[in-house]
This record gives sequence, C-alpha cells and structure tokens, in this order.
Amino acid sequence: MYRTHTCGELDLSYAGRQVQLAGWIQRIRKLGGMTFIDLRDRYGITQLVVKEDSPALVKETTESLGREYVVTVCGTVLERSNKNMNIPTGEIEIALTGIDVLNPSQVPPFTIEEESDGGEELRARYRYLDLRRTPLQKAMMLRHLMAQETRSYLSRCGFLEIETPFLIKSTPEGARDFVVPSRMNQGQFYALPQSPQQFKQLLMIAGYDKYFQIVRCFRDEDLRADRQPEFTQIDCEMSFVERDDVLAQFEGLIRHLFKTVLDIEIPSPLPRITYSMAMEKYGSDKPDMRFEMLIHDLTPLTRDTEFSVFRNADYVGAICVKGAAGYTRKQLDELTEWVKRPQIGASGLVYVRCTAEDDGNLSYKSSVDKFFDRQALEGWAQITGAADGDLLLVLSGPRKKTLEALGSLRLEMGNRLGLRAKDVYAPLWVYDFPLLEWDDETQRFYAKHHPFTAPKPEDLDKFYSDDPRDLEQVNANAYDFVLNGTEVGGGSIRIHDSLMQERMFRVLGMSEEEVNAKFSFIINAFRYGAPPHGGIAFGFDRWCSLFGGSESIRDFIAFPKNNSGRDVMLDAPAEIDAGQKKELGL
Ligand code: ASP
Repeated sequence: MYRTHTCGELDLSYAGRQVQLAGWIQRIRKLGGMTFIDLRDRYGITQLVVKEDSPALVKETTESLGREYVVTVCGTVLERSNKNMNIPTGEIEIALTGIDVLNPSQVPPFTIEEESDGGEELRARYRYLDLRRTPLQKAMMLRHLMAQETRSYLSRCGFLEIETPFLIKSTPEGARDFVVPSRMNQGQFYALPQSPQQFKQLLMIAGYDKYFQIVRCFRDEDLRADRQPEFTQIDCEMSFVERDDVLAQFEGLIRHLFKTVLDIEIPSPLPRITYSMAMEKYGSDKPDMRFEMLIHDLTPLTRDTEFSVFRNADYVGAICVKGAAGYTRKQLDELTEWVKRPQIGASGLVYVRCTAEDDGNLSYKSSVDKFFDRQALEGWAQITGAADGDLLLVLSGPRKKTLEALGSLRLEMGNRLGLRAKDVYAPLWVYDFPLLEWDDETQRFYAKHHPFTAPKPEDLDKFYSDDPRDLEQVNANAYDFVLNGTEVGGGSIRIHDSLMQERMFRVLGMSEEEVNAKFSFIINAFRYGAPPHGGIAFGFDRWCSLFGGSESIRDFIAFPKNNSGRDVMLDAPAEIDAGQKKELGL
C-alpha cells in the first residue's frame, strides 16, 4: 500500500491518526534540528516534519532527498504550531515515522511551484513537469468539470454523443486542411476535419435529432495567442428547430455551466443584439459588454466644416471615456500613436476634454478648436452623453474600418481604466450576420460562417438575385455566443434543400463539376428527406480559459502546441525516414 490519504485531505479532525501519504517533494526547509518537507500530489500539499527524535532511518533518508523525489511516508497527524490558513491542510503536519524513496529525481529544470521561475519555452519542453504545478492542475480539473457537466446536461436533454471520423475528405470552413497521405491509396490524401459540420448534418438526415460531441477539430491556420492547430469543440446539432429553439436550448447549457462551474446566475434570457448593431455600437461582432462606452455616430454633425479630414470622411464616430478628461497631452499623443499602429489603422485621433465651468456649464478643449466652436462641440457632447470630466475620442475614415478602430480603442480604454475584470462575465448572443463577404483580392464571395448556413427566409429573393449588391445584403440565419469580447460559440440554421445548397455553392463561385466532385454526397443526402435543422459549436478550450480567468487557451490544454504550431516536447512536426515516405508514395 502506498497511501491511506491524499496530500489535500488531512486536517485537524485527523489529529493523532497514523496515516500514509505518497507524492512528490516540492520543498525541503531546515530549521534548527528540524526538517520540514512539502509533499505534493494533485490534491494538495501536506507538510511533513522530521525532528531530532525521529527514527534514525527516517533522518538518514531525509538527508538524501531532493526536489521532485517520489516518496511514500507514514507518520502521525499533529496540530501545527505555525498554521497556514491559506491551504486546507495548513493546520496540521505529519511527524514522520517512516519514509521510502519510490524514485529519485534529477534536479528539475525550473521550480515546480505556484509561480515557476522557468520561461515558457523551457516549461513547454518539460510539459509533464509544468503540469505538476497547481495552476495547471486546477486548469485540468476545471476542464474536466466543464466536460462532465456538458455531457450530463446534454444527455439529460436527450442529446446523443456520437463520434464522427477524423480521416475524412476536406470540409471547407474557411481555413486550410491538415492532410494525411494514404498508404493504401497512393497519391491520395485524407483531410482532418476542421469540424464535424457535414457529419452532424448527415446525422440529422439519418434521424438522430439531437446530437453532440466533445470533439477535436484541426485547422491549419497561422496561430494567434488564442488559437491552436488542434482544438476542441462542443459540437451540437438539432432537427425540427428554428433559431430561437436552438438559442433557448443552448442558453440552458450555458446557464448550467455558469451555475455548476462558477456558481454564477446569468440573466435570463441572455441579451441579444444584431450583428449590425454590434458593429455600430461596439465596433466589433464580439462586443465586450462588461462596460458601456458605446460608439456614437457624429457624421451628420461633422459634414459642414472646414476641417477637410472630417468633411471628406465616409464616417466620423466617437467614444466617450468617462472621467478621463485629465488625460495629459503626453498620454493623448501616445494614444494617437496607438491608433495609428497598422493593426488599428486610424490616420489620427481627435479629442475633446469636457469640464464644468464655475457656472456649471460645460466647457470644451479639443484638438480641433480651430474648426469647431463651442456650440458644435456641445452637439457632440449631447450625442455622446459627455459630462464633466469626460474625454471624447473621435476617429474618422471609411465606415467599417473606422468602426472597428473605434471598437479596438474602446477595448484599450476599457483595459486602461480597469473595466474588464476577469471575474465579471457578460454573456450575450449576436445574430443576423451577413451571409456572404466579398473578397476584393479573389473577386468572389466567401461564406461568412460556412457554406451550409441558410439565408434568412425574408432575404431569399436577394439570395437568388444575380446582382452582387443584393447578395451582399443577404443576412444569414446565424448566431454567435459571445463572452467578454470573445466569440465562444457559433452556429446557424442550415440549408436543408438540395437546390438551395447548389445555389449557395454557385454563389461562392464553384462550378457544377467542382460541386459534384466535392459535395455530391451531401447534396444527394438532402434529396432523401432532410429535416429542417440547425446547431452550434462552442470553442471548448477558449470557454475553459475564460472560466479559469486566463488569457491563454494553452493553459487549459494538457499538451498544446507553441506559436509556430510545434510540440516542443515531442519536437514535432519532424522529418520521416525515406522508407516511410516510400511506403506512402511520397
Ligand atoms: N461547424 C461550425 C464551426 O466550427 C459550427 C456550426 O455551424 O455548428 O464553426
């Protein structure tokens, strides 16, 4: 027997008991004649103590110990004189009567404690050691809880978890596929699924009207901080549903996870806003609703001016930053540089400081005082709701680009003013996205969501029109679940009519031959009684990281890849030998 208890379990109620524990040695401290050892397992840390009068063998073995040695110990639970009330085992220690080294350890390359002294790259190379640290253990436990609660909730609602294959034919979702060469069919390749999209739709046609799967997806994209080449989705699909049925069903799941994982009640129903409203008021299709600071359109007020930048601009908009009128010239200059960075792309920044005069009236100090008098600036203040102590930040340019720049500036100001606390949650739905996006470079439309998303019924005339201006205006019956400025889930009501699906592929610029070669199976399936259906997929890693209060999804994936898509522990991807290549016909 290695242990009677775990290292997170013992407290004063065990005082006097003989126990046996097993775990890793986190730290050894010598104080006078006594040695204190922190013993760690995934449940916690328990303090062990070796004294002058401990058995000779225990004292001898203790001398030989090092960090990360695996040991099993036995001893008596005692009340500690120096209590640590921050941990559950902090009131006791174990006076050792025996200790066995189960396996020694080399000196670890970094400290394995709450905070480590190891850099990211080093810790990634020794991921199995990093995973011993409490923050990562907590992340893994949170992920487990999320997965279990998802499974139990959805199966209680009648959903079946059905697995779909990984070796498939390319499923276009907008990203590049990872491909796998076939040995048995030389010169041919499988693709790894970007999502089980077509399979879940086929399951609907097969009559499995409520499907879900916690499933790995693969996308060969350039990586950003919150992206991984392989990631996990909670993938769901339902038949005989309209948008509101889907939203209501998954609001249930969202509510359940908030309650069981974080013990937070979220508003019912969740706020919903349209894509166009989100763009207009937040400059983003994934608005962070933890704070207000809405975008206001000043274009009608800035047409008639000598200031050519505004006069010629397609759009002029402002955010009102509460209490920021005290921003210094230096801070404003720095902010101007910030909005001019290529990622934001604004050409400059106009500001207005609003302060109350002695008579109570507001006075304005702006960077465009030459062009706009008090009355004009008062008009801006009225529209934006600016009051004493507020700062207006104004950007101008092409409408969409300027709204997005204002959206980024809004988030930046939110960060600077501490309005984006990690433990405050503002979930919502965004809906009615455009169906299509025109790409100037390739001169064709792309599906904003994916090609299986249905147009809104009221936009069907435009969908069948050959005028690109009509097509641009078609809305999709699509929705996203957004949490704190992050898109956590996305889905849609699907096309279930073969002719409509064919039309969609045609709109996306595919020839009949191309459609037949790539999609004949799904178009065919639609001819055999496809029910109306729709669904959603949630980014599971991202959701876990938001619930765990972390910026990075990597902390919530046991063995993630780095920014260049490498597993630095395995050193993958790697060359394969010539024989292996030959066998694959490469
Ligand atoms: N398959 C979609 C995605 O991965 C989600 C969905 O439409 O259900 O984004």
